Parts: sequence; structure tokens; C-alpha cells
Amino acid sequence: MKPTDTSDPDYYHKVVDCQWACPAHTDVPEYIRLIAQGRYSDAYIVNRESNVFPGILGRVCDRPCEPACRRGRVEEKPVAICRLKRVAADLRDDIVPRLPKAPAQKNGRRVACIGAGPASLTVANDLLPIGYEVVVFEQYAVPGGLMRTNIPAFRLPQAVLDEEIGTIAGMGAEILLGTPVKSMRQLLEGGGFDAVFVGTGAPRGKELSLPGRHDTDRIHIGIAWLESVAFGHVESIGSGC
Ligand SMILES: Cc1cc2nc3c(=O)[nH]c(=O)nc-3n(C[C@H](O)[C@H](O)[C@H](O)COP(=O)(O)OP(=O)(O)OC[C@H]3O[C@@H](n4cnc5c(N)ncnc54)[C@H](O)[C@@H]3O)c2cc1C
Ligand code: SF4
Repeated sequence: MKPTDTSDPDYYHKVVDCQWACPAHTDVPEYIRLIAQGRYSDAYIVNRESNVFPGILGRVCDRPCEPACRRGRVEEKPVAICRLKRVAADLRDDIVPRLPKAPAQKNGRRVACIGAGPASLTVANDLLPIGYEVVVFEQYAVPGGLMRTNIPAFRLPQAVLDEEIGTIAGMGAEILLGTPVKSMRQLLEGGGFDAVFVGTGAPRGKELSLPGRHDTDRIHIGIAWLESVAFGHVESIGSGC
């Protein structure tokens, strides 16, 4: 057996089951301690170090941390880690003054991000404070990617999306809406960018090859259908067959 390598941060993550189970390795115990002390803004900032959308995740995360929570072994139910994240987000004060600022003196490098989904927005969040100019190209008239187009507004209110995306835009990201990138060559050769991040997502619903699948217009592919609902193309689903 290999000796324990305490210089590896993963060692500490693994010791805390919920933190290890979270894909972003969020420091769960720390932020819950802060919430218990009523320090909601501090808890939000701890969350934001791992993921820039705590208010969104507090509503829609799949919460793999909770099955790993040790309380589940002694009290049957885990700590409501995900919803506590929402508590911190909803009750916090304005945290913008506490976030790193984009310096007035840029480093001279320009980065293009294709798509205004969580991936590109996170890239912008991380590059702006170290002096990069970031331009985000989004094909639709609204930013947010699948967070916006595939999660119904009753689960994730637009205002929460707008605020957390607005925080990143406010750091200085130039978000060009209604601007699809149609030619990578043109962007690479004529865009004047030092780097291009492709954050276009990989949205594809799974087709079902079942007899009768195409005999009706009442079977929909989830991703396309949710997008139609989000953009107001579908307003009712009609009655049952
Ligand atoms: C119901 C549901 C289904 C999901 N299904 C999937 C799935 O099938 N695949 C998947 O990877 N994740 C899926 N996820 C998980 C989650 O949505 C993704 O992990 C997350 O959205 C990925 O973020 P992203 O920024 O990479 O891409 P997205 O959120 O998809 O954002 C990409 C953005 O790029 C824009 N864009 C695309 N092409 C261009 C272009 N040429 N020019 C300009 N803008 C462009 C899009 O309009 C969009 O705003 C799903 C989530 C939900 C809620
Ligand atoms: S709710 Fe999601 S983001 Fe938050 S700690 Fe759990 S897995 Fe991580």
C-alpha cells in the first residue's frame, strides 16, 4: 500500500465524502458552517470559488453530494446540501464588491468564446481578472445556454439566471447576442483573437427507434421540446391520446 500523500489536495477532498462526490469539489462543510452562523455572503463566496453559479445550482444541481453525505448513515436523510446553497444565494448581500476586478491595464490578449453557456461564461469569469479581453459570441438573443433553454422557468427563474450571468458581464465580458459563429476559419484568421474557446455545448436528444415513433406528432425529443417551450413556440401540450 502506498503511503498517504498529504501534499495532494485530493487526499483532503476524499476525506470529506460530500466534497469528493461533488464534481466541482465544493467545500461543503465550510459553507454550511458559515450558513449556520448566518454568514450567507461568505457562504456564497465559498461556493463561487468552485462554481460561478451558486444560485442556479442551489435550485437545479443533481446533487451527487447528498447520497454521499455521512448524516445519511446515521439519520437516514442527508443534509440538504443543495437547498442550503440556495439559502446562501437568496439571503446574501451584494457580493460584487468582493469579486476580483478586471484590471484597467489589460494584458493585450483577446479571447473569443463561442456560446454563452456556463462553460464560456466560466472561462470569461476566470480570464477577465487576469487581464484578458473576452468576447462571447451567442447565436440566440439571450445568454445562458441550456441553463436558459432547457430548464423550465418554474424550476429556475429567469431573474436568478440574469443576475448570476450579469455578474460576469459586469466584470467586463463583451457578450454579443444574436451573433452565431458560422465560420471558424473567419474567426481564427480574421477575428483578431489570440485564442478561441469553443463552448457550443453538445445538446442532442436521444431518438427512440420504436415502432410507431413517427406515426404521431405527439412524441417529442426532450431537448428540442424544452427549447421550444423556453422560446414560446410551444404553449400547451394538448390532452392525452
Ligand atoms: C434537460 C437537460 C438536458 C441536457 N442535455 C445535455 C446534452 O444533451 N449534452 C450535454 O452536453 N449536456 C446536457 N445537459 C447538461 C448541461 O446543459 C450542460 O452540461 C451544460 O449546459 C453545458 O454547458 P456549455 O456551456 O458547454 O453548453 P450549453 O449550455 O449548451 O451552451 C452552449 C451555447 O452555445 C451557443 N451556440 C452553439 N453554437 C453556436 C454558434 N455557432 N455560435 C454562437 N453560439 C453558439 C448555444 O446557443 C448556447 O447558448 C443537459 C441539461 C439539461 C437541464
Ligand atoms: S449541490 Fe451540486 S454543486 Fe453543490 S455541493 Fe452538491 S454536487 Fe456540488
